[in-house]
Amino acid sequence: MDDTRIKLLLVEDDEEDYIIARDLISEIEGPKYELQWVESYEKGLEAISRREHDVYLFDYRLGAHTGLDLLREAVRLGCKAPMILFTGQGGKEIDLGAMKAGASDYLVKGKIDAAVLERTIRYAIERKRTEERIRHLAYYDQLTDLPNRAFFQELLTRAIKRQPPRLAAVMFLDLDNFKRINDTLGHNVGDELLKGVAARLSACLRKSDVVTQLHLEDAVSRLGGDEFTVLLTDLRQEQDAADVARRICDALSHPFTLQGHEVVVTTSIGITLYPKDGDNLHVLLKNADVAMYHAKAGGRNNYQLYNPSMNTETVERLNLEQELRAALERQEFLLYYQPRIEIATGAVVGMEALIRWQHPKRGLISPGEFIPVAEETGLIMDMGKWVLQTACAQNKAWQEAGLAPIRVSVNLSNQQFKQRDLVNIVVNALETSGLAPEYLELEIMERIMMQDKALAKRMLHELHEIGVRLSMDDFGMGYSSISNLKSFPLDLIKIDHSFVKEMAIDADAAAIVSSIIAMAKSLKLRLSAESIETEAQLAMLREQGCDEAQGHLFSRALSVEEARAFLANGQAAGGAGQRSSRAGARPGEDGRGRVSDS
Ligand code: C2E
Ligand code: MG
Ligand code: MG
Repeated sequence: MDDTRIKLLLVEDDEEDYIIARDLISEIEGPKYELQWVESYEKGLEAISRREHDVYLFDYRLGAHTGLDLLREAVRLGCKAPMILFTGQGGKEIDLGAMKAGASDYLVKGKIDAAVLERTIRYAIERKRTEERIRHLAYYDQLTDLPNRAFFQELLTRAIKRQPPRLAAVMFLDLDNFKRINDTLGHNVGDELLKGVAARLSACLRKSDVVTQLHLEDAVSRLGGDEFTVLLTDLRQEQDAADVARRICDALSHPFTLQGHEVVVTTSIGITLYPKDGDNLHVLLKNADVAMYHAKAGGRNNYQLYNPSMNTETVERLNLEQELRAALERQEFLLYYQPRIEIATGAVVGMEALIRWQHPKRGLISPGEFIPVAEETGLIMDMGKWVLQTACAQNKAWQEAGLAPIRVSVNLSNQQFKQRDLVNIVVNALETSGLAPEYLELEIMERIMMQDKALAKRMLHELHEIGVRLSMDDFGMGYSSISNLKSFPLDLIKIDHSFVKEMAIDADAAAIVSSIIAMAKSLKLRLSAESIETEAQLAMLREQGCDEAQGHLFSRALSVEEARAFLANGQAAGGAGQRSSRAGARPGEDGRGRVSDS
């Protein structure tokens, strides 16, 4: 501005007054002003809409109109330049009205000299700039210079309020692999990528050669992170939104070159239409988010138009899936350990590793909630590997800390058990941790073994070769026959918790348990019972000759520290009788080392 001329527009119907103003301006020293004069309201409006001037000077009286009318109209047209009103003598109300209508300042005719005029113009420009700077900070994203969330909401609200309503679309975009790029190539590259994406998105909304007629108020915004929105305000038909989405996917599919790296990024887009999919900002955004998750689930790099059958349950499920993927990297999984007690002596003979998910928002989540999802998505493979390695390493650490050796048992999922290189994974976990194979036990559910008996037999034999122990988990649901059990190299059978639960109340259940135990004895298998909660249950099992027990009566699943304390105390008590072992469960430990809780 210092080296360029400041362009002023004067709207003034009185030529004499124009001449006065012109002369005053020519007296001003310093920055050079260039004055243009128009003599009517209409010509003023015309000039304003061309947006060529830096400052506007309006006379109050303009024929049938007033300078206030012109101010209001200019604001409506989106005029951003400062406007100064010339008023007559003593028009206090007019002055106030002028400021309210959006004037930067007012000057009283006949009471100004060159210095006052210069200062007023300069201040008006400064104030506008400061206002703009503040507005920019509040409404634009610093990194990409796109409208931010607040501005986007304002734009959408404006689009919704139009009368009569016009078809509009909200797109919710999420980059599919941004986190990985950010993590592997660093935040600088990540930032560059976001800027590049912002530029390409904006380019997609430019009119140019586009078939769809796009509108002035259409906007790309960045909500934060790798989330962007696109607002299309004046669509002729739904298909137009899909066309733009397609174009965005294409535009992003070419690689970016960032600091010497070639980076490929794709996006998933969810689209909602106004008024069809929602009549307010909140619903439109929520549904666009829902549609976006479906786009992600549909293989990424695509778009989905919202439809009401996309319900929130599916979204929660998809959310869980996404979070689960990230959870391994973020190390949100941990293992709890539930003590396994030898009934005859009360000694702790093992610990069953039970996975937990320490979710950043939802707290500790139990495996029942996420193992099925992990199975379906294949995530169970990496998760299972991690469990094996962690449990082996933990058991080795206990041994090295001088605690008496125990077995650690690890549950294998369906897919894991059928995995080709399971044996290698197990061997690897043992070798990496240095744990001797006899201290690892693998628990496989009866149901899983029975699905493909030939495969189970082969797999169990291979595992048996390594020297690890094998147990059949959740036994008793009626799938196995004695002949199957004979052909599997098993060490132990764990009776399903449902029998234990029924045993004390239901004679049939008790009969089944005693026949299971008798059968196991005849096959020289050890027998364990799960979920022992009462003394009565324990007494019955002891009477039947069951070997091992596990359950809240002894201890719930414990954190690593609690488990270590339990082991230490169990040994201090000399492993004499289950009572003393239970007493050794360190009641201190926030009461959680005890029988209660689940
Ligand atoms: P499971 O292998 O049969 O484990 C026993 C479950 O019963 C555990 O639940 C345990 O906390 C619970 N439990 C133990 N004592 C009692 C008791 O006295 N009363 C009651 N009501 N429950 C008791 P959790 O930890 O929620 O695990 C549930 C299942 O999730 C496990 O059943 C197992 O099938 C699976 N699971 C747990 N960790 C893993 C893992 O690392 N990998 C795989 N593939 N599956 C796992
Ligand atoms: Mg188990
Ligand atoms: Mg079980």
